This record gives sequence, C-alpha cells and structure tokens, in this order.
Amino acid sequence: MKNSFRNLDDADFRGKRVLVRVDLNLPMENGRVTDATRIDRILPTIREIAGKGGKVILLAHFGRPKGGPDEANSLKPIAPVLAEHLGEPVAFAPDCIGEPAKAAIGKMRDGDVLLLENTRFHKGEEKNDPAFVEALAELGDVYVNDAFSAAHRAHASTEGLAHRLPAYAGRTMQAELEALAKALDNPVRPVMAVVGGAKISTKLELIGNLMKKVDILAIGGGMANTFLAAGGKEIGKSLCESDLLDTARAILKEAAAGSCRIVLPVDAAVAEEFKAHAPSKIVDVEHVGQGEMILDIGPKTIDAVERLLADVKTLVWNGPFGAFELEPFDKGTVEVARAAARLTEEGALLSVAGGGDTVAALNHAGVADAFTYVSTAGGAFLEWLEGKSLPGVAALRGGST
Ligand code: AMP
Repeated sequence: MKNSFRNLDDADFRGKRVLVRVDLNLPMENGRVTDATRIDRILPTIREIAGKGGKVILLAHFGRPKGGPDEANSLKPIAPVLAEHLGEPVAFAPDCIGEPAKAAIGKMRDGDVLLLENTRFHKGEEKNDPAFVEALAELGDVYVNDAFSAAHRAHASTEGLAHRLPAYAGRTMQAELEALAKALDNPVRPVMAVVGGAKISTKLELIGNLMKKVDILAIGGGMANTFLAAGGKEIGKSLCESDLLDTARAILKEAAAGSCRIVLPVDAAVAEEFKAHAPSKIVDVEHVGQGEMILDIGPKTIDAVERLLADVKTLVWNGPFGAFELEPFDKGTVEVARAAARLTEEGALLSVAGGGDTVAALNHAGVADAFTYVSTAGGAFLEWLEGKSLPGVAALRGGST
C-alpha cells in the first residue's frame, strides 16, 4: 500500500466548506451514547480543519434505516454529545442534502461545525447514486474522509464524493492507513500473524492472504480445533467445522510448500462444559477426552508463542486464542497479549490488532493502549486483512479531481 493519498497537510481550508465523512455509528441504549470512542477519534480532524478556518460539515450514517427518515436512526441526539466532547457548539441540519442542509451551511462562519442528518435516509447513499453524490457535492468545496471503518463500502459519502471534490484523508484515516501499511505492506520482518476466534469459515480469505504475507501464522481459538482434527487428533466435543477438514488440510499443505510456518496448539485447557469456571484441566492435544472440549491454549503453547514473538519484529493479530469471555479460559489470550504489549513498549515489536472481539480481548487484558495500533474498524479491518482493496481508500488515492 503506497502512502500516496493526500492528507490535511496538503489542503488550504480557509473559508472553504469542508465535507468531512466521519464514523458516528455509536453504540446507543435508550437514546444515550454508551461508548464515545468513535467521537474521540474524529476530534483531531474536526479541530484541525476548524482551526485552519474551514467550515466543518460532518457527514455520517447511523444504523440501518430502510431508505427513508426514521427517528430511531436520527443523528440529532449525537450533535450535543459531539459538542460536549469537542468543547464547541455543533449545529444540526435535519437533512443531508437540499434546502435544509443549504440553509444551515449558509449560516456557518469559518471554523464552525455542523452535523448533517443520516446519509442513509436517502437510498442514493448505499447505491452510490450519481444524482445523490451530486446533491452532496453541491454543499462543499473540499472532501475529507476520516471514516476508515466505513471505507469497505462504496457508498456516495465514502467513495462517490472523492471523485467529485478534491479529496483528503483525515488524521484518523491517515493513522490507520499508515499503521496498516507498516504491518503488512512494508513490514519489518519477520512478521507473525495470530489468527484466532470461533470459526475458520469466516476467516478463510484472511488466512489465505496472511499466508502469502507473513513468516509465521499462529492459529488459536475454536478454529484451531478443525486443524487439529484435520491432522487426525481426537478433539472430543470441541467446536469443529467437520465440513472444512479438507480445506484445513489444503491450507496446511500450501503453507508447508510456501514460506509460511503455521503454528498450532500443542496443549489445551479442556472442560466438559462451555461456561465460566467449569472444572478444567490442561492436556496435550493428543489427550483430549471424548467428553471434553478445548476452550483455550495451554501453557506449553503460550510459551511457544511467546518465544516466537520475542524473535519477530511485526505482529498482526485478529481473534482470541480461547473463549476469553469465560474465566479461566482467557489465560492464553491475556498472557500472549501482555507479552506482545511488553515487547512493543520495549520498542522491539510493532503490533497491530483489530476486529471486534480482538479489541474486547485486548481491553480485557488491559493492554490495548500498549499496542502500536488497535483498529476499531471491524469489517473494514477484516477486509484489509483479507487483502481486499477498500473502495473508500482507493478513491482517496486516485479519485480526487
Ligand atoms: P471471532 O468472532 O471469530 O473472532 O470469534 C471470537 C469468539 O470465539 C469468542 O467469542 C470466543 O469465545 C470464541 N472462541 C475462541 N476459542 C474458542 C474455543 N476453543 N471454543 C469455542 N469458542 C471459542
């Protein structure tokens, strides 16, 4: 991935109407924001553009409205929350195109911030409809995309606009792209990937792409069981995708033929029940009983992964090593995460992690802040791990007029 997109250093915002695509798809309960991480991530871009004299016009989607306005998916309640975090007023316009938007923009002074209503209230947003793109483009002079998490969608506000207006990456987008480039595109080698989580079926493309790019691939979580079963091991009642045994064998064969070393668990924490504090024991993977299930990697595997980590320079992590929500089956994930955090803090490792459960697992281990970069982008992060081109990013690289 070349760092060829333009960022906020390259634009003159003074007096300009700046359409800024942000991620405000915040978790809410009973009309209240329960986690404002996404707001905090976009503040640097908003402050910088406002500070440089631009009129900051925020575009965002919220939820999954069925192509028309509905109160449950309105961005209106987010405006005061954003204002509180920003420490500046944030105006709101009840539509993202047409007269309501134009009237609100007409009242803005340089440095003001305005939030437009949910872009998905118009069907043209998700269809990337040229007429809707045009209606958005009329409202601005410049386009900034700071929503990496929506960049895997070719929607009007995430992709179409980048072809219509001079386009720039916001600071959060820039940080994400630079971290991801360092982790997989131009990494310092050796590179190790950790792929865990429940199932192989959701991560086949990801494994296929990583195998081509990394030197070591450590596989954990429920998906490792399918690989163990493919190698002829008895895995008892463990989670296993028996229709993917051939696929797992093919992956192992391809890795052996290439230059990627696959590391599988050699021991495991097993229990008869899938619940916190279920009676458990540690066994080698050759000795899993018929009534038992593998719920975490064991100490020998933790040790082996930590020794490998000590010798690599770059780590990419998606998915937990075990059922980390259920103590004590969080041990493998927590111990390896802490080792990676320590190495990162010592300057010996560049560590990038992402994907929903991975962020939760690193928070649980108390080390999310110690990693070089933790992506909260979910789907976009996974598509990047799969080696796919993200339309919102591709448009920033080559699409501006
Ligand atoms: P994913 O969303 O694919 O990253 O999967 C994350 C989920 O995998 C978490 O909820 C874990 O509890 C679950 N998981 C990890 N290891 C195991 C295992 N050995 N058996 C069952 N579930 C697991």
